[in-house]
Amino acid sequence: MALVVKKFGGSSVATTEKILAIAKRILSEKKPDDKIVVVVSAMGDTTDNLINLAEEIDTQPYKAKYSREMDMLLTTGEQISIALLAMAFKKLGQPAISLSGAMAGVRASSVHTKGRILGINPKRVHEELDKGQIVVVAGFQGVDKIGDPVTLGRGGSDTSAVALAGAIKADECEIFTDVDGIYSADPRIVKNAKRMKEITYFEMLEMARLGAGVMQPRSVEMGQYFKIPIHVRSTFTNTPGTIIREDYTVEDKDFEIRGVAHDQKVAKIAVLGVENVPGIAHKLFSALADSNIDVDMIVQSIRNLDKNITDMVFTISLDDLANAKKVVDKVAEEINASTVLVEEDVAKVSIVGAGMLGSPGIAARMFGALANAGINIDIISTSEISVSCLIKGSQLVEAVNSIHDEFFKD
Ligand code: ADP
Ligand code: ASP
Ligand code: MG
Repeated sequence: MALVVKKFGGSSVATTEKILAIAKRILSEKKPDDKIVVVVSAMGDTTDNLINLAEEIDTQPYKAKYSREMDMLLTTGEQISIALLAMAFKKLGQPAISLSGAMAGVRASSVHTKGRILGINPKRVHEELDKGQIVVVAGFQGVDKIGDPVTLGRGGSDTSAVALAGAIKADECEIFTDVDGIYSADPRIVKNAKRMKEITYFEMLEMARLGAGVMQPRSVEMGQYFKIPIHVRSTFTNTPGTIIREDYTVEDKDFEIRGVAHDQKVAKIAVLGVENVPGIAHKLFSALADSNIDVDMIVQSIRNLDKNITDMVFTISLDDLANAKKVVDKVAEEINASTVLVEEDVAKVSIVGAGMLGSPGIAARMFGALANAGINIDIISTSEISVSCLIKGSQLVEAVNSIHDEFFKD
């Protein structure tokens, strides 16, 4: 008997035909004693369409004052797909039940639109499995301590699936999607990207954090925490995909870099002409943190030694721009900054790989690839296993391909 969690993303459940097809596939592969939990996303572009609806009310629906209502709206997407998939199983003669995040015991923090799973009480899930049902759970949602729905950030169904797999001690978590595994770069952008058989949690987490949208970063953290192998594979074929796990088992481990990630949903904010005295950075970044805005690359530069004036430049997610601008404008006034500039035509391109530890030449090769393509680097940041460059958004595709060619030419 196997206990498995299978997650199907939006493109896998985009139509009722596809929903029926995945129900058939699951049943054709199911052994009589298998216990199966299926986590699903909203159908196709439903989440985007719901956001578009909210934009008809206010062009900036991610303003803090709307966040609870956004969650009320966005959680409806997944509720449509769970109901339809449970009906599809029943139509095929298989007992099944749909459960919302709250019914499945998914407790989340109260940070609307950016909730984090705090814990899962899988009692109901186990009860339904024991009755012989396939349990279909709404991804991307949990419930906070006062009973309100909370969504888990874009791509959050991945995290729902892996966290549920951990909570019920599943043997494996399968992520079915529109690609047949994890590639050395987004295959939609890099035509000769290479599929991996395996990748470590450590490297996949960094790829995801730096924009590889195939997995939500938090889901990889959950996999690592629960030591659940995550199998990323295609909904539409039977070929094995990529296993995300603790360490490599079969592939050659001597990779220079593991992949190139990119992130287009980035904005840059520059607070110019602030006094270079203790406490300024603290004031600015704690105000952003208090509003739950993650800051990514940060640069502080001395531009006028005589006057002891400095500029603070940093990047945030594009979705946070409206909230961040409000916070930054307020702090800028308090600290007497001369100007606040916002740039939206920026993007981040990164290389990732544990193999780059102690190999300084790797970063230089990345910069060389960008230089040869005539692409200017605005900001550079590094971690133990990654190097990221902020560049012009319009040059992103060329940048990703140039860097990929440099490291993955066969
Ligand atoms: P789902 O709706 O199934 O969750 P997503 O669109 O969230 O699917 O994720 C799958 C997409 O992730 C792929 O279509 C691909 O374009 C993108 N992607 C980005 N980086 C990578 C990568 N390194 N490997 C594979 N896919 C990637
Ligand atoms: N439907 C949500 C989204 O589009 C969650 C998910 O698909 O994982 O982000
Ligand atoms: Mg996804």
